[in-house]
Amino acid sequence: MLPWRSLAATAAVKLRPFAPSQVRLGPGPVLDAAEVNRRFLVAQDPDRLLHNFRVNAKLASAAAPLGGWEAPGNELRGHYVGHYLSACALVSATRGDGQLKDRADRMVAVLAECQRAHGNGYLSAFPEELFDRLRADRPVWAPFYTIHKIMAGLLDMHTLAGSAQALEVVRGMARWTARWTQPLGDAAMARVLEREYGGMNEILYDLAAVTGEAEWREVAQRFDHERIFRALAEGRDELKGLHVNTTIPKIIGAARRYELTGEARYRRIAEYFWRQVTERRCYATGGTSNNESWNAGPGVLSTELSGYTQECCVTYNLLKLTRHVLSWTGDPACAEYYERALWNGILGTQHPRDGSKLYYVPLASGYWKLFGAPQADYWCCTGSGSESFAKLGDSIYFHDDAGLTVNLFIASELRWDERGMTWIQDTRFPVEPRTRLTVRTAKPTALQLRIRVPSWVERGGAATLNGKPLDGFAAPGGYFVIDRTWHDGDRVDVALPMGLSLCPMPDDPGLQAILYGPLVLAARMGTAGLGPDTLRAEPTRPRTVPEYKRDGLAMPALTGRAPWVRRADQTSLRFATVGSGAPRELVPLYQVLDERYAVYFRGSGS
Ligand SMILES: [Zn+2]
Repeated sequence: MLPWRSLAATAAVKLRPFAPSQVRLGPGPVLDAAEVNRRFLVAQDPDRLLHNFRVNAKLASAAAPLGGWEAPGNELRGHYVGHYLSACALVSATRGDGQLKDRADRMVAVLAECQRAHGNGYLSAFPEELFDRLRADRPVWAPFYTIHKIMAGLLDMHTLAGSAQALEVVRGMARWTARWTQPLGDAAMARVLEREYGGMNEILYDLAAVTGEAEWREVAQRFDHERIFRALAEGRDELKGLHVNTTIPKIIGAARRYELTGEARYRRIAEYFWRQVTERRCYATGGTSNNESWNAGPGVLSTELSGYTQECCVTYNLLKLTRHVLSWTGDPACAEYYERALWNGILGTQHPRDGSKLYYVPLASGYWKLFGAPQADYWCCTGSGSESFAKLGDSIYFHDDAGLTVNLFIASELRWDERGMTWIQDTRFPVEPRTRLTVRTAKPTALQLRIRVPSWVERGGAATLNGKPLDGFAAPGGYFVIDRTWHDGDRVDVALPMGLSLCPMPDDPGLQAILYGPLVLAARMGTAGLGPDTLRAEPTRPRTVPEYKRDGLAMPALTGRAPWVRRADQTSLRFATVGSGAPRELVPLYQVLDERYAVYFRGSGS
């Protein structure tokens, strides 16, 4: 099966993802999170979601309008519907969920009806007048951002859920976009691109790839933002001052341009950007941004901790970009980043009670996670979060002609029909630092199995094949390769010892986050002043950064062990401070809910 949404990739690709339908999650916290999200999606009322589309097309709607960013009059209304279609398509592909597929198919039919009523290919929950304002450089929020979400949702319904009607609707939208942009000269278009437009270039390149219709590439290129691309192509970080979630989708578009055309410049743009952001602009969690922007130069993060750090859409988009860079390079650093951001920036950003989503993950001490109210907020991150939790299995496995790469330790089953094999990963990671891979195959099959050995693996990493030790286990930060003929029932057990380490701020090494393996730990700070109302309200002024004495121990190496924390027991992920003062409990950030917490700590004297 061709890789999802990369159907006509022409550029050299080292690793290919599997289609979402080929990977099923197994029991564990990741599947639990996917289930919570599925219930959140099921709880949505499609007629309420479609209300503004019907009203805008002058079709009857008896549904009660939604609130927040989907409220009538909000200039982004309709954006969540695009994410919702993507999420339903993903869930239907990954779980064979007929309920959400049928619902999304019916929604596509209504959207097609709305598009017919407009009569010119236009489809939106807000009037075209917003685009008149955009063209005239008058105040308007981000109309193309919303169009991108709807087009992406429709294209996902086509590629993942087999909807022919969705493809026709998105083609109509692309034709409308071509007509809208065509009269604009380069200067006028450059002005349009200064307004957030999501990934219009990405979706049009995707449409060209899916249909083989080259004309969409030309429309896509109108949305390639040369003002942003120029410095990146020349290896310069001029990101300071940019709105982060406006920028990353443009770069994903550059990645798609490279994949479709082979133009190396666009790979340079995407790859330089990815390395610069993940290596110099990300917190220990793998997230980036503060108040939605990059406010400082590269490597300056200690001044950026607030209640509005790492917008969740940003992590969602960085993970999308990571998959592209990984597929070109096969660089284990990409998988390392993916793991870090997935556990610390995606899992833990929805409430298990009702699936409501976070907007920001606060990283200043004393804040709490502020979840949106279901049916009320519909933030951008409600949308990207609905997608994130619908594709949690999408980056566990990759492949090439020679073999299979295992990048993440998540209980799952990979059905690799092309090779006649099924790989089953059994693991209780991260509670237990090990995983087991078992193959089911009708006939003996030669294959290279590459298992990532993360840089966080401590001494004692090892693997066995059918119970017999294997030599030459890879050094941390690489892949352990087993090249052999596999027989039905062959079993590889991998020990991945996890330890505690410190992740210092690059510009203030005394300010440090504590990690257990890839998991950022958070100190629990109680619920003082928090009630049902405040947990849904804006985070208020933070408390001070907690200070812990380190009992005269030498300053640990910057990436060394955390000598003042120990794991409470081996069956849970609870940790406690040691040394003077009352012990304080730490848990993985992804497990923190409904209480104040701290992620960065300052050792006294540092
Ligand atoms: Zn967002």
